[in-house]
Amino acid sequence: MRKMRRKGLASMAVQTAESTTNSTKPAVDLGPAAALSCRECGHRVPLGPVFACEECFGPLEIAYDFSAHDTEELRKRIEAGPANIWRYAPLLPVPADVATKPNINPGWTKLVKADNLARELGVTGGLYVKDDSGNPTHSFKDRVVAQAIEAARAFGFTTLSCSSTGNLAGAVGAAAARAGFRSCVFIPHDLEQGKVVMAAVYGGELVGIEGNYDDVNRFCSELIGDPAGEGWGFVNVNLRPYYAEGSKTLAYEICEQLGWKLPDQIVVPIASGSQLTKIDKGLKELIELGLVEDRPYKIFGAQAEGCSPVSTAYKAGHDVVRPQKPNTIAKSLAIGNPADGPYVLDIARRTGGAVEDVTDEQVVDAIKLLARTEGIFAETAGGVTVGVTRKLIENGVLDPSLTTVVLNTGDGLKTLDAVAGTGLTATIRPNLDSFREAGLA
Ligand SMILES: [Zn+2]
Repeated sequence: MRKMRRKGLASMAVQTAESTTNSTKPAVDLGPAAALSCRECGHRVPLGPVFACEECFGPLEIAYDFSAHDTEELRKRIEAGPANIWRYAPLLPVPADVATKPNINPGWTKLVKADNLARELGVTGGLYVKDDSGNPTHSFKDRVVAQAIEAARAFGFTTLSCSSTGNLAGAVGAAAARAGFRSCVFIPHDLEQGKVVMAAVYGGELVGIEGNYDDVNRFCSELIGDPAGEGWGFVNVNLRPYYAEGSKTLAYEICEQLGWKLPDQIVVPIASGSQLTKIDKGLKELIELGLVEDRPYKIFGAQAEGCSPVSTAYKAGHDVVRPQKPNTIAKSLAIGNPADGPYVLDIARRTGGAVEDVTDEQVVDAIKLLARTEGIFAETAGGVTVGVTRKLIENGVLDPSLTTVVLNTGDGLKTLDAVAGTGLTATIRPNLDSFREAGLA
């Protein structure tokens, strides 16, 4: 799978090769970001709108210089920072004055201690829900787009674009509107109506593609190599190294909100797999910086059975991920050919976690379970993580005596169809007799 992915990226790596030299001096000011580094071979190139290594076509990541940080000064600076992701600006590829720029400023969402859910699931070590439905466009995607837009600004792009399963489209639309960019985003034509409206309302261009997410993604790869896409910042393609760093803030927040402690176990949904890999990266950085104690943690990946390429590979003991054709109500996770799938397998195995999947019926049950126990209405992806958490506990894989954090990455209002049929208890006439007749007294 990894080889297939790299082959697809080859043309774009060539297209941008002229911007890469051996110098590591940043050409733009993106704070502590020093260069781009290949995840596979370590080859370094200057910061720029590139995402594939010119040597091996591996994915490029941000390389930082954190050497100047004094741990306690850094901790104080973070704690005194704004109640959004920019409190972590010293650890992100953004300019130091990022908080003064027009941005939707996501993050610092609630970490809910879910005692009722813990009782239902038999968790005794402390169960928390990191509820990212509290972001400006009600999904975690605001975190990654907020990063991408700062990179787009630094590189002089004026149009923001992306391929999206829905949530990202809304996040790009909102961020572009606020920051004064044009936006033109591409989605599968048959997404949930809530996500279509949510993406369109910000006034950018929204284009439905007749195909699934992987078709949309392929189209965007063609567009980026065509003159029609010149000057466009694709948040999850040519801005991907910057964009992806936004997911680290979930790890930072979880640890800071736990009192600068690592959780023992984290359950993370898998779409492309990028979020899970960046949560791992964020936790490792906090350990390296001395902001949390150096001790083991386990990362668990969650998929829907109808799109479970990573879970299938994990259970089969494979280290390659075979693409699948998605068929699940969890459309925000419906990526059949997940770019970071092999890295997710590595992380789940290295940390002692696992990757598991649940049926659509179990997703719906889990949405309702979280809603009735904690008052949190999650979108289908949240149903996947809660459902997988339950399954992992039942199977003895996840240890209920340890501190566990479950991610909810989006708002149930966007996926109302998933819980269709949930509604009125009764319809009565406006008098007490009718109320009594309905058995409600
Ligand atoms: Zn490389």
